[in-house]
Amino acid sequence: MAVCSTCGYCSTGCNFTITTSPSGEIKVAPNPDYPVNKGTSCPKGFLHLEPLKANDRATKPLLRNAKGELEQVSWDAALDAFVTNFKMIQKKYGKESVAFLGTGQLPTEELALLGCLGKFGMGLVHGDGNTRQCMATAAKAYKLSFGFDAPPFTYHDYETSDVLIFIGANPVIAHPVMWNRIKKNQQNPQLILIDPRKTETAAKVSRHFPIAPDSLLTLLYGLAHVLIANGWLDEPYIQNTTKGFDAFRQHVAPFTPESVSNKTGLGVQDIFDLAEIIHNGKRVSFWWTMGVNQNFQAVACAQAIINLALMTGNIGRPGTGPNSITGQANAMGSRIFSNTTSIIGGYDFLNRDHRRKVADILGIDAGLIPDRNSMAYDEILKSVQKGDIKGLWIVCTNPFHSWINRSWFEKTMKGLEYLVVQDMYHDTDTAKHADLVLAAAACGEKEGTFINSERRIGVIRKVMDPPGDALSDFEIFKRISQAWGCGDMFSEWSSPAAVFEILKRVSKGQPCDISGIKDFDMIERCGGIQWPCPEGLNDFAQERRLFEDGRYFHDDGKARFCFTDVEQAPERTDEAYPFVLLTGRGTVVQWHTQTRTDKVDTLRKMHPADVYVEISSADAERLGIGQGQWAVVRSRRGEVRARALVGGKVKPGNVFMPMHYFETNELTFPFFDPMSREPSYKYAAVSIRPE
Ligand code: SF4
Repeated sequence: MAVCSTCGYCSTGCNFTITTSPSGEIKVAPNPDYPVNKGTSCPKGFLHLEPLKANDRATKPLLRNAKGELEQVSWDAALDAFVTNFKMIQKKYGKESVAFLGTGQLPTEELALLGCLGKFGMGLVHGDGNTRQCMATAAKAYKLSFGFDAPPFTYHDYETSDVLIFIGANPVIAHPVMWNRIKKNQQNPQLILIDPRKTETAAKVSRHFPIAPDSLLTLLYGLAHVLIANGWLDEPYIQNTTKGFDAFRQHVAPFTPESVSNKTGLGVQDIFDLAEIIHNGKRVSFWWTMGVNQNFQAVACAQAIINLALMTGNIGRPGTGPNSITGQANAMGSRIFSNTTSIIGGYDFLNRDHRRKVADILGIDAGLIPDRNSMAYDEILKSVQKGDIKGLWIVCTNPFHSWINRSWFEKTMKGLEYLVVQDMYHDTDTAKHADLVLAAAACGEKEGTFINSERRIGVIRKVMDPPGDALSDFEIFKRISQAWGCGDMFSEWSSPAAVFEILKRVSKGQPCDISGIKDFDMIERCGGIQWPCPEGLNDFAQERRLFEDGRYFHDDGKARFCFTDVEQAPERTDEAYPFVLLTGRGTVVQWHTQTRTDKVDTLRKMHPADVYVEISSADAERLGIGQGQWAVVRSRRGEVRARALVGGKVKPGNVFMPMHYFETNELTFPFFDPMSREPSYKYAAVSIRPE
């Protein structure tokens, strides 16, 4: 038997042919006909079903007993504990005293069910996702600039650009299959990198601009200044399709190359050169990831990138665009269909007409849809700290490892009266602290759809059964709805395919319209389908980009120039903490908190086992820290030991630690972008010394 299914790790959205022999042997091969990966894969993808075999899979629900130990129980007992405890908390402290935290790893249909069950069925006003940690910035910036959270690009733009500018991105290890697409570019493109660190991508590009870590927004405004000063603009495009340029022109007037040089550490000529490269390009594309999204002025940086594209007319044409590359497999599905920051389909909780429209489609009372936005992730946690939220349901994410300033997180969680964790493993850093663990199936053991970075909907297929009594997240949500007493509300939500039909109806007429997609089989036949795909669309071209007609989603059809003042980094280095700590991905074989990749021997052997800290040769020599020695890294939050990796990747004054190790977030500084509430993982003051 053979099925085609999408990889469950990253947002690239690669597709694989998975063949199961009669003896049960499973073979995984990248699908040569799929327009995303075209027969290629990264090491994680080839092995993406291996973590399913791990012996720490949650095979039954686990309930903490009187001795304080997690003990296997039946689903009936688990659901009873879930409902009894959360309802008791709601009765005692009010409905809003229970909240949920979701993920960008679940299929869209499961996310929609979780969001609607949580908010409309259980009456929880507050629920957010771990996409807050990676993609909230891009979503907010697109929404403000374009009128909808709409990444404009298609992967073919990698192959048609003549200038590709990567900003705070390391695609060589973070998005290796996308990097393969870039290597296929026949335009002899200039590849540019803006990043404080000499990453794997820096080694491959035509030119690397190693800026000071707190200077990105200054540089982006400085580039706009040089483009304006030299008249390197697409005036007709600005005139016809945008609003707010004159104010933006005034805003960037003080960002002279000299002042920008002082702040960024780049030469005046470097800044001019970079602006000239943008000007000379015929098809310039800008690609950003976490160096932007997790900046302390994240949304402002993303908007500044969008502004560069708008003012030079580099959008809506092949090979162009201000393009945010997503992280998790279904971050894009979460952004639009999880019912967290917007009502499913990208509607506004604050808009009465939107609430009515969605309620009518779902056949529910509009009064069940909250007329307020949820608190953001960090605000939910602060509410736990204050004692207002007493019950938390964490689904398919590992914040005891991944949350910024993790010791604070761990301490804060002690204030909960009840913690439910739903996961495929029973011993993640988070599941270990749960009062109740709900045993969930993995990608490969269930059906649904993901949406990748280029808005392409891809199908995931069931290849095998989940182990023991573990259930798909979809089935868990359904059973919770019955046990909670709101099962009737979800009678039509009988399967992922049925939910997809509901999402088609909800999305109709929205920018993310998918009403023209018949079913999962059609998606598979087409090699994935990018939204929008409205009813009546006849052209299912494999590559479609947005804004080719110069019309944006604001009511007047125009894009906005958005900008703000440049701020200082929220935590400053000083004599006691003289280094800037940068964080990011470590290697191509590690994924986030490693709950899955660490289960695969082949992958584990390909990266350092111990946490490490990169330090420049000059700083290491000055401090007497030798290659591979243990060093002590300290911030105002805590102290960890890490092996020193001495070399030229970071500049003097900076150190770098990968996000995949538990220790790293002991040190990070808990600041949140004021517009997106995304944590600012990329800047903390630390000291370092030999152990
Ligand atoms: S690039 Fe991402 S989607 Fe593709 S195989 Fe690797 S992890 Fe999976």
